[in-house]
Amino acid sequence: LVVELNELEPNVYEIERTGKMRVPARAYGSESLVEGMQEPDDRALTQIQNAAALPGVEKFTLVLPDGHQGYGFPVGGVAAVDADDGVVCPAAIGYDINCGVRLLRTGLSYKDVVSEQSILADRLNQTIPTGPVAGGYVDADISDVRGILEDGLEWMHSNGHATRADLDHCEEHGRLPSDPNAVPTEALKRGVSQVGSLGAGTHFVEVQRVTDVYDDETAAAFGLGTDDVVVMIHSGSRGVGHQTCAHYIRAFEREYQSLSASLPDEQLVYAPLGDDLADEFRGAMNAAANFAWANRQAITEAVREVFDVLFGATGLEVVYDVCHNIAKEERHAVNGEMQTLLVHRKGATRAFPAGRPEVPEAYRAVGQPVFMPGSMGSHSYVLAGGPESLERSFGSAAHGAGRRKSRTEAASEYSAGELKKALRARGIFVRARSAEALTEEAPGAYKDIDEVVRVSDALGIGTKVARTVPLANVKG
Ligand code: 5GP
Ligand code: MN
Ligand code: MN
Repeated sequence: LVVELNELEPNVYEIERTGKMRVPARAYGSESLVEGMQEPDDRALTQIQNAAALPGVEKFTLVLPDGHQGYGFPVGGVAAVDADDGVVCPAAIGYDINCGVRLLRTGLSYKDVVSEQSILADRLNQTIPTGPVAGGYVDADISDVRGILEDGLEWMHSNGHATRADLDHCEEHGRLPSDPNAVPTEALKRGVSQVGSLGAGTHFVEVQRVTDVYDDETAAAFGLGTDDVVVMIHSGSRGVGHQTCAHYIRAFEREYQSLSASLPDEQLVYAPLGDDLADEFRGAMNAAANFAWANRQAITEAVREVFDVLFGATGLEVVYDVCHNIAKEERHAVNGEMQTLLVHRKGATRAFPAGRPEVPEAYRAVGQPVFMPGSMGSHSYVLAGGPESLERSFGSAAHGAGRRKSRTEAASEYSAGELKKALRARGIFVRARSAEALTEEAPGAYKDIDEVVRVSDALGIGTKVARTVPLANVKG
């Protein structure tokens, strides 16, 4: 069952093209990280090999150093298809459409918050709705949700929930051209009570201290320095994205039964680009992406309220906001020719290098910010899109440490009380709505973020800029 790998160079492994594969597949990682992607522990390598059978797929499919198995396609996986002859594949995007990470600068220094960590954790926990069902921080009705699906952060700006600078520091300025009418009514309705809600599972709001700066020039461009206090927000499109994705997977299964039956894994069901159903899904996906940006913006508003009340700090600025579950049309070189591709990234962050026009002006000389959260008890990193990312990974990098143990495994292995105490002893204040919400997310459930980052940096797909440690964490 073990997938055969050829080591092309350090940290680069290739799965040769065989059987139904149209291109080779790759795995980026140290020997131990890539070994961990093998069956029976994990299906990531099998899944990325299967994905190489998708019609229109170009160059190679790839799994990043944080990769692990997901629904039909690995989390930490990338597949790029020709924008005319390819397909759109929901499993290669993920149910939580435009799940992503946003980083805020607070203008505060470690010494300003060190004595207030506990109350800060409490206030954030009280102010930001958490859990699977929760009211949103921003009140909304059906017509507001329609506006958000259509206009994303533009709607938030028009309605007084975002500054122009917030939009300018967000991937796509927080809005993709969308088709709100393609979003199923059920999904739309769920959005009403979820504008500004964290959701459950791996989602979090974490106050962090910058402890190390590796690249002064880039850190300065990102507005980051040693001992700065920053806030990392990880959340997505909530019920809106989940219902949308589930709806279209079912619709694709009905419409394309014979197509998907020919695939190595039926979970990779897809729609050929150009079909009405593919267009509908993409319009709905972009609408859900707009909702996710509005959600992270509303959470930002809640964080700003807390920092204003506690510290009188009114200058919380967005460093950047990146998606890690989405398919986007982009121009890439394939065999020396520029081509328009639909790049599917699932648990993978866009990591465009300096010079790409998509990178906001403020960062265009240094590359886009890339965020790699580790866990509630480990480092997290800020990187910059690296010079090798376009060649090696269609301009993509890892999105975190990546799960090593399943939720159930982690929950049975760790005790919430001990975990909380151990973190507290290290100066980390966590708040969670239940014991499981904490134990499922225990630091031991994740891979070693330092190693994931080392590989990204060594490969030049994401270069190290700064490292942080957690001070206060609210889990979803
Ligand atoms: P996702 O759910 O998007 O696949 O995972 C995002 C990544 O966030 C995980 O791979 C993990 O490394 C990281 N992560 C999960 N929980 C926390 C947390 O509470 N704090 C930080 N800093 N990182 C986390
Ligand atoms: Mn998510
Ligand atoms: Mn995520």
